[in-house]
Order: sequence, then structure tokens, then C-alpha cells
Amino acid sequence: MINKLFNDVLHVFFPDRCLQCGYELIETEAFLCVFCHEGHQRVYCSPFTLTILGATNCFCLYHFQEKTPTQILIHHLKYASKKGIGLELGKALARTVPPEHLPQLLFPVPLTSKKKLLRGYNQSEWIGRGFEQHTGIKLCSNTLIRIKHASSQTKLKKEDRLKNVAGAFALGKPLPQEITHVGILDDVITTGATLYQVVSLIKKHSPEVHITIFAAAIANR
Ligand SMILES: [Zn+2]
Repeated sequence: MINKLFNDVLHVFFPDRCLQCGYELIETEAFLCVFCHEGHQRVYCSPFTLTILGATNCFCLYHFQEKTPTQILIHHLKYASKKGIGLELGKALARTVPPEHLPQLLFPVPLTSKKKLLRGYNQSEWIGRGFEQHTGIKLCSNTLIRIKHASSQTKLKKEDRLKNVAGAFALGKPLPQEITHVGILDDVITTGATLYQVVSLIKKHSPEVHITIFAAAIANR
């Protein structure tokens, strides 16, 4: 009660504002006002597959394009410590997934230790936390680990991206025997090179395990 009162008073003096238009948000809105939220370009064809990932099903919430609310949200999630955006995206993503496609465990794509140290958190893990909150599926942040420092992917060509992340991941512990379906959580799918490495690694250790990719957004390809 006191907490709510405090938040209400705080809101009067420092109202939350829409990250896109700056308009004051009402209680039911988070990070974007309803009008700006309409600017998201939903992915309607989930699950879909990517050539690089073979038959692996992918679920994505939005198309990632410049100057869209999706880009603004992802930017604030990654670079402005707005981890709550990850929670909201994870919950929204989970709501789009039919029960038969839900995995038994969730693994966020890990950041390099340098990036995690600089950022202080892994944005994909926060999307995973939202997904976990909505579905009750356990998020395991220490199973999939990063073992090699891969330099930034953003300026590399597609072939070079594949080489850059080769051998970048390992399993911190083996998958429990009873697990037959795992989900990988990512923020934005670009070329799929990182996910290819992750999927290959899991398939190498557990060839029978079914894998599904969940991402908040997919870049135009
Ligand atoms: Zn707005």
C-alpha cells in the first residue's frame, strides 16, 4: 500500500513516458503508448524455418526495422538498462506460442563475458525471464555458456559471421536425460549464424533433442 502510494506520488512528478513519442504513459501502458505500440510489425508466420537452421522451428514476435518501435525497445533493452522491456517482450512472445510448441527448458543465448561485464546483464536472459513468468518453463542461464570471445558481428559479412562464432559456445552441464525439447531465447535474429552454432552444439551432444528458437525480433533479410 505504502509502496503503491510512493509510486503514485513518484509518477505525478516523474511520469513514465513513451520511449518513442515522449507522451505520458497511463497505468496500463509500458514503455510505449498504445499508438506507438501499433507501429510494431508483427511476424504472423510463426513458426517458420531458416535455411541455415534446417528444420528448426522459430517463433518471433516482431520484424526488426529501423525507426520502428521495435528498434527503439531493443535499443533501450540493450543499451539503457531497461531490463523490464525484456520481461514484457518475453511475456508477449510466450503468448503467441501454441502449447504444443512449448519446450521443457529455456536457454538464453549467452553474451561474451566482456559484453556481460560491460552491460551488467544479458538482454536475452531478461526476455527469457518474461517467457518463464508467462509459461512456468524453467530458464537455465548456466547451461549454455560462451567460451570464446567472438568480436562484434555487426560489421561482418555472412560467411565471416559463421567463422567468427564457430566454437564460441559449450554446454556447462549435460542435458538431463528426460529432456526431449529445449528452447533457445534470443533478442534479435540477424543471419542466424550464432543460433546455428548453438543448435549444432546441442545436436552434437543430444542428437534426439528437439530444439525451438524464440526471439523477440527478426531483422529483415
Ligand atoms: Zn508513443
